[in-house]
Amino acid sequence: MRRPLVAGNWKMHGTCASIKLLLNELATQVLPAEVDVAVFPGLVYLQAVGAQVAQSDIVVGAQDCAVQLEEGALTGETSALQLADIGCSMVLVGHSERRQLQDETDSVICRKFIAAQAAGLTPVLCVGETLAEREAGQALAVVQRQIDAVLVELGVDVFAKAVIAYEPVWAIGSGLTATPEQAQDIHAQIRAHIASHSAGVAQGLRILYGGSVKAANAAELFAQADIDGGLVGGASLNAKEFGAICRAA
Ligand code: PGA
Repeated sequence: MRRPLVAGNWKMHGTCASIKLLLNELATQVLPAEVDVAVFPGLVYLQAVGAQVAQSDIVVGAQDCAVQLEEGALTGETSALQLADIGCSMVLVGHSERRQLQDETDSVICRKFIAAQAAGLTPVLCVGETLAEREAGQALAVVQRQIDAVLVELGVDVFAKAVIAYEPVWAIGSGLTATPEQAQDIHAQIRAHIASHSAGVAQGLRILYGGSVKAANAAELFAQADIDGGLVGGASLNAKEFGAICRAA
């Protein structure tokens, strides 16, 4: 049985004050013991968030890491080792906003995935098609290409210590959620693709759904056989909403 994971991606939101308040409110929420809960604050807040959740079961992840693992003259970059050093245990790699806005390619994302695992962090590999790609019947091909950029390069075993997040780009921040059937269809095909390389790895791999997840739709998404939790953006900025999503997993 896979342990569900609900991850809050805070993106570039928050201030010291608002984040402290959000975590105080989250501390009043009942979070189920059988669900892993993670938050992904902006880089500058990672340590403060880590300190505030230290007594809870919530783990902290970063939204990105450098391609390079070793320290060096890389102004503005933060390595996976540095993230591990301050207590992060996970990192998002290949979020569609970074693919689109920072021109991250599959090969850059693969290098970040390698750096994350080398530092002992769990990479959350984000994949998903645009609306145009879905309408062209390319959704699965795009997702498979994004996964193969890691799978073919590194082999299937790396997915024993990784998470995949399927986030259709058209559903992110748009209020348009994939239907549970649409999401389950892609999740099942992702798992089958991994299973064609290793049934055991596929069986244990957590595949999260992301894209306008909210308390009102979480339960039916998470009820699908191959949806193992969610990567939640906007709704993770509201403690009551996020708490309810965690309870739905
Ligand atoms: P959303 O974002 O929940 O606001 O759609 C999800 C994500 O980008 O991870």
